[in-house]
Amino acid sequence: DPRIDGIKTKIRVVPNFPKPGIMFQDITTLLLDPKAFKDTVDLFVERYKGKNISVVAGIEARGFIFGPPIALAIGAKFVPLRKPKKLPGEVISEEYTLEYGSDRLEMHVGAVNKGERALVVDDLIATGGTLCAAMNLLAERAGAEIVECACLIELPELKGRDRLHGKPLHVLVEYH
Ligand code: IMP
Repeated sequence: DPRIDGIKTKIRVVPNFPKPGIMFQDITTLLLDPKAFKDTVDLFVERYKGKNISVVAGIEARGFIFGPPIALAIGAKFVPLRKPKKLPGEVISEEYTLEYGSDRLEMHVGAVNKGERALVVDDLIATGGTLCAAMNLLAERAGAEIVECACLIELPELKGRDRLHGKPLHVLVEYH
């Protein structure tokens, strides 16, 4: 799709952020370009419209930027998956490992019902730990059916796909 190249050129790579040796993929520059931002949302909407998806789950924080416009366009609800202690209601929680230590994602109890068809959205997949925790919350804990995970960017060298329990992952851009 010719729109992909336009999207790619708007993602900025910031070396040594947030720490030395990391090449940070920054999508805030994409958001500054209304055409590239819209193309990004449109590409996902075209893929997921008519697929009977009732839940779009977005991962804090950048999944909150791309998830809601996709949810509105396909007629699904939006469910935020948040970092610990942000959600005020009763939550279910899944831990995942980071390079150093661990973190958690939380979801409100009752946000998703058994058997609902869910799409998981984030900006980027690296090791896949974050998406794996998100999928566990939705599928194992809430009983939803994961249709697909959708990210703008994949870092394929880190083999994050292998942690997704065979669930499909769709990405727009790969960085090697
Ligand atoms: P993973 O759990 O190792 O797959 O890391 C993915 C999570 O870390 C996502 O929520 C991303 O937003 C974030 N992340 C990791 N590296 C980058 C990056 O280079 N740019 C933006 N987000 C990143």
